[in-house]
Amino acid sequence: MMRIGIIGAGQLGQMLGFAARELGAECRFLDPSISPPARVCGEVIRRPFDDAAALAELARSCDVITYEFENVPVGALQQIEGRIPVYPPVDALRHAQDRLHEKQLFEKLGIPLPGYHAVDAPEDIAAAGDALGLPIVIKTRRLGYDGKGQFLVRTPTDIDAAWKAVGSQPLIAEQWVSFDYEVSAIGVRNAGGELRAYALSRNRHEDGILRTSRSPIDAPALTDKADGYLRTLMGHLDYVGVLALELFVSGDRLLANEFAPRVHNSGHWTIEGAVTSQFENHLRAVMNLPLGSTENVGYAGMINLIGTIPDSARRLTEGVLHDYGKTPRPGRKLGHITVIADSAQGRDALVEKIDRTVT
Ligand code: AMP
Repeated sequence: MMRIGIIGAGQLGQMLGFAARELGAECRFLDPSISPPARVCGEVIRRPFDDAAALAELARSCDVITYEFENVPVGALQQIEGRIPVYPPVDALRHAQDRLHEKQLFEKLGIPLPGYHAVDAPEDIAAAGDALGLPIVIKTRRLGYDGKGQFLVRTPTDIDAAWKAVGSQPLIAEQWVSFDYEVSAIGVRNAGGELRAYALSRNRHEDGILRTSRSPIDAPALTDKADGYLRTLMGHLDYVGVLALELFVSGDRLLANEFAPRVHNSGHWTIEGAVTSQFENHLRAVMNLPLGSTENVGYAGMINLIGTIPDSARRLTEGVLHDYGKTPRPGRKLGHITVIADSAQGRDALVEKIDRTVT
């Protein structure tokens, strides 16, 4: 039986763990949390992510190592990558961890993106405003997620407040895009270079947190472009595993926002809505198995359950509820609901109804 070491035992680890069971693989996790969601899927080594002894133990007892969140210290992975395959490649993680490096990579690969400017001092924010035009958004280069560590600068008078709010760390300024909507392109690639892409997901965020995803969407020209960007990015990184590329749609243009070197919340619909889920395909890729079909099996929608799982969500008769088993806390992703319909209109009506019910 193949043993997979997974760094991080959150809900993504849990859903990977469920998929592993169906592939006949065993999972072992590394996570310092007291009662992480993936504990129901395998043993959890309760040590920090950069604990050298715990990583060595994981490497010793597994056949391959993967990770389910982005803030794994690169140095810690480099300690074990000579001994055991680590997928996705550590270099992909290194780029994804730093917004400046990520943007430079998009630029180098010809993937369009919003204008940006490195910020190391308050004067750089003014310079960025001049170069890009206001408004601009200031983001931390590292360790930002779900819109955390971001500050919108609408007028020059906001600059001081922006610097006070986030200025103690390396920053980046970005053009504020008045996009039509947001999509993610999720691809999977195995070590043999076989690559498949899921249909685009249309995503709606609230306060920087993903609220709903819908897939497929009727946008063939955008799909072709996104597939090309995935192919370029994953090929360049010699990528193995699932990768999610988040993009802004503006007319017929796609602008890359960021990529995640892991399974992604906007792909949760693939559990019920695609022939092979992103979780199974990620494992297939890292286990060096042929990839499964990424075709949709219907019109899928996903509604995140954030902060609380209300009784109304449990009483729903439409859709599949996934409860990650986490302690409720404001802003925390506790679960999601997936719906499948046989038309885009039917799917959209269900997503909107459930979104209202659970809010
Ligand atoms: P991020 O952490 O970069 O994914 O940002 C979280 C969310 O903030 C995105 O999904 C967008 O909804 C919004 N956002 C981030 N950057 C920009 C931008 N440059 N222009 C417009 N909206 C943005």
